[in-house]
Amino acid sequence: MSYQLIELDISPSDNIQCPHCQQQVIDWVEEQYVQPCEHVLFIAMDIGFEYITDEFEQTMQHTVDDLHANDDQYHMFSEIAASSYSEFKIYKSDLGVEGYSRYVGFIA
Ligand SMILES: [Zn+2]
Repeated sequence: MSYQLIELDISPSDNIQCPHCQQQVIDWVEEQYVQPCEHVLFIAMDIGFEYITDEFEQTMQHTVDDLHANDDQYHMFSEIAASSYSEFKIYKSDLGVEGYSRYVGFIA
């Protein structure tokens, strides 16, 4: 388990760009604003996942279905941090609601 946490100094309405291919993986111009590229492992908020690859989900201690069914017991960041995935980056950004954050995981 090895991740690097990068806190983005952006506002909740700003896009988030992939550091590898520069695709806007959170793109507010699109009706479906979650636009993962091949470098994205997951896109999550404290309250749940918006996107996750099968590969990353297999490295977590619980399935996303399990986490969502028990979202009062689990904190998504803790579950992400407990992943056994070898190396990845987490881009953390403010959601603009009561200290909630969004977490975008990229391959390192
Ligand atoms: Zn990319």
